[in-house]
Amino acid sequence: TAHHPAPRAEVVIDLAAVRHNVALLAGRAAASGAATMAVVKADGYGHGALPVARAALAAGATWLGTSSLAEALELRAAGVTAPLLSWLDPPDVDFAPGVAEGVDLSASSTAELARIAGAAARAGTRARVHLKIDTGLCRNGCPPQRWAELVKTAAAEPDLDVVAVWSHLACADEPGHPSIDRQAERFADAYAQALDAGLRPMRHLANSAATLTRPDLHFDLVRPGIAVYGLNPVPQREDLRPAMTFRSTVVLTKRVVAGESVSYGHTWTAPRDTTLALVPVGYADGVPRTLSNRMDVWLAGRRRPIAGRVCMDQIVVDCGDDEPPEGSEVVLFGGGATGEPTATEWADVIGTIDYEIVTGMYRPRVRRRYL
Ligand code: PLP
Repeated sequence: TAHHPAPRAEVVIDLAAVRHNVALLAGRAAASGAATMAVVKADGYGHGALPVARAALAAGATWLGTSSLAEALELRAAGVTAPLLSWLDPPDVDFAPGVAEGVDLSASSTAELARIAGAAARAGTRARVHLKIDTGLCRNGCPPQRWAELVKTAAAEPDLDVVAVWSHLACADEPGHPSIDRQAERFADAYAQALDAGLRPMRHLANSAATLTRPDLHFDLVRPGIAVYGLNPVPQREDLRPAMTFRSTVVLTKRVVAGESVSYGHTWTAPRDTTLALVPVGYADGVPRTLSNRMDVWLAGRRRPIAGRVCMDQIVVDCGDDEPPEGSEVVLFGGGATGEPTATEWADVIGTIDYEIVTGMYRPRVRRRYL
């Protein structure tokens, strides 16, 4: 039998938190008559696409969303039969397996429509398409001046079912930002043109932030991602529970005298005699080196600072007069309920967003475990 050494660090995913968050989001959506698509791209924002997908479907989501067709097909291969939309693949992707597996595909151009229609012909079945209008994010999506042509082409294409008209918001996490209403107006125009072309598509526009703050923009379906994982993108308080905890253990403690300096570059010097705890987790495991001397961990009932530089495989924590036993749990970040740092706090210190922190936590050396 294979030998499995104890993991030095692990990411623990609380699927009950995912279910709680999805129930909250799906409840808000249902109140305005909308269904809920849980966005599980990028391996479920680093939480594991399949376990999150199953938890989300159990808690009231009825759709799933992925960025790539490969991600969608992995879910299908694992037995997930729920409606599934995939929206961003390169021009040389073969859509036929997606069509055959009943994966809904997004089209932003007539060229993309033609590729999907060709795949449908090859797969011998009709393809389900969501026409994407660029209402002002200026990323993917059809520019408004080409929309009439896209809609007309889609309506005339016998191998395609136009399931939805959709778009994505640029500034929904800043409620009241004028771009939100401007995008909503362009979205309404695009939808009206689809109706004029004889289509009867669903509409979807809202990400997490709009799901939480703009019930008037829920339409038929909302597409929350980050809030599924318990991270709140809007300023107002919401009852969301972060699902991810990043933890390790103390492997060694030692007393040092005042004046001793710690880790590469000696950037931290003990101001007094103190106990140092060594934790076997470093930047190779997802602790950004920019957190050197700038973040605490939760260890033996309180927050304690990282002393000196974060190394590739280890950090040192200043424990003062306490001597936590070797094997003590160290929480790098978690839900924050007991005072531990959160992914959001890491992001604030580093100058990024919590999305990037959690999405970056899929590391071969870090065990992922589910509660
Ligand atoms: N819809 C689309 C098209 C997306 O790309 C994303 C993620 O970026 C989402 C929905 C979910 O967004 P959020 O994680 O902000 O809820």
